[in-house]
Amino acid sequence: MQETTPATVKVGELEFPPRKVWMKTYGCQMNYHDSERIMSHLSGMNFTKTEEQNDADLVIFNTCAVRDLANQKFYSHLGETQKLKGIPKRHVPGVVVPAPAKKVIVAAGGCIAQTEGKELLSKYKQLDFAFGTDVIDNIGEMVYRAYAGETKFAVTSWDRSENYSIETKITQGTPQAFVNIIKGCDKFCSYCIVPFTRGREKSRRLAEVVKDVRRLVEYSGIQEVMLLGQNVNSFGKDNSESLGQLIMELDQINGLNLLRYTTSHPYDVTDELVEAHRVAKKLANNLHLPVQSGSNTVLQRMLREYTVDHYLSLLEKMRKANPNIVITSDIIAGFPNETEEEHKDTLKLLDLAQFDNIYAYAYSSRKGTKSARMSDVLTDDIRGRRLREVMDKQLTIQAAIRNGMIGKTYRVLVEEKGLSKGVTKWTGRTSCMRLVHFEPQTPESDYQWHWVDVEITSATALSTQGKLIRDLGKNLQ
Ligand code: SF4
Repeated sequence: MQETTPATVKVGELEFPPRKVWMKTYGCQMNYHDSERIMSHLSGMNFTKTEEQNDADLVIFNTCAVRDLANQKFYSHLGETQKLKGIPKRHVPGVVVPAPAKKVIVAAGGCIAQTEGKELLSKYKQLDFAFGTDVIDNIGEMVYRAYAGETKFAVTSWDRSENYSIETKITQGTPQAFVNIIKGCDKFCSYCIVPFTRGREKSRRLAEVVKDVRRLVEYSGIQEVMLLGQNVNSFGKDNSESLGQLIMELDQINGLNLLRYTTSHPYDVTDELVEAHRVAKKLANNLHLPVQSGSNTVLQRMLREYTVDHYLSLLEKMRKANPNIVITSDIIAGFPNETEEEHKDTLKLLDLAQFDNIYAYAYSSRKGTKSARMSDVLTDDIRGRRLREVMDKQLTIQAAIRNGMIGKTYRVLVEEKGLSKGVTKWTGRTSCMRLVHFEPQTPESDYQWHWVDVEITSATALSTQGKLIRDLGKNLQ
């Protein structure tokens, strides 16, 4: 065996000296979770993170295909990396571009790479390899191949094994962890690319998730867990297990203080899950339940499998089960051929649902989906106008809801401090996921990852300010 210097890691036949990785993540929490897994594998190969792309030996884009805007951003960011490889923008005869000071590997992973990996490799000279969503845990092998001299390869295979078994990797050093419980989606909503980029649903076993979370709480100081999946409500279907059961089991773990889950599909919300919201003490006072439209005919064209009435009845049940629950949602404005009446039905739904917050987007078509094949009479201007109307309506509702917080005290997990108009403020989130800002008692006070009680003193549609009532420190128990 060859001798290695202490600063060098030997992997297979190759020496890995300390190197830097720059990674850009787009899109959803699932992608951020995947990036954390990638980082944890790479740290075993002597990579540390850098925020400066120019310092990096390895550049990774973890892409998202859900919205056109994210796609365009990624193409433009990837295009810019040609300078890292000394590739000229245009070939000018007689002009020799100096070779770069060091070898840089460029890779693209995630949802766009899953469906367009080979095209990306042929279009972007600087791209060394592309990898899909189901091979995240093989990143070490791919990086090894790249350093062994292989280039222009795509790994976009699906994991065909029956079981989905992983161990959560955390690298952030915070008391919050994302724990993936199910991957893929079987729903095939007509506008969504996810079933094509993330594959079919596959759940982890309930016992494995419980063991995983127990380990995170006991050995890594995790206090808040976000259960993740494209449709977490489908968790355990193949194994006769359920999200409701999982929540009740996790609720028993000493030291775990807050439990969240995302994303939900209204069709799969069961009475058992509603009951968990009534009983589980650690389940957050927050539910993100994407409705997408307030029109039954649009919901049919979206293939969402529920009606507006069914959706509203779920909100009623949830609010009865937990009167403190705060509900947020997603809206798509301007689905193909949406009529003015259908759009107005969405505005009406906002009044009825009283969401605490929404993520609203103008529809953008994704290649390969059913809705991309629909003929469509709407223009970008109409979509833009409808999106503004949705947002204006929601912000008015939101401001009134947030006003109702004034004078009440909320428990907050503090995340960071920042400067607002020259004043130092700390920021954290309530159990219901609202952002709260407050001033420290002294300039030196450090509240990072403390649990604090804050009384809300003022609120707008988008933020709430409060005064510190109590600092409970880093551990609640
Ligand atoms: S349930 Fe969500 S992830 Fe699945 S296809 Fe529909 S929109 Fe996409």
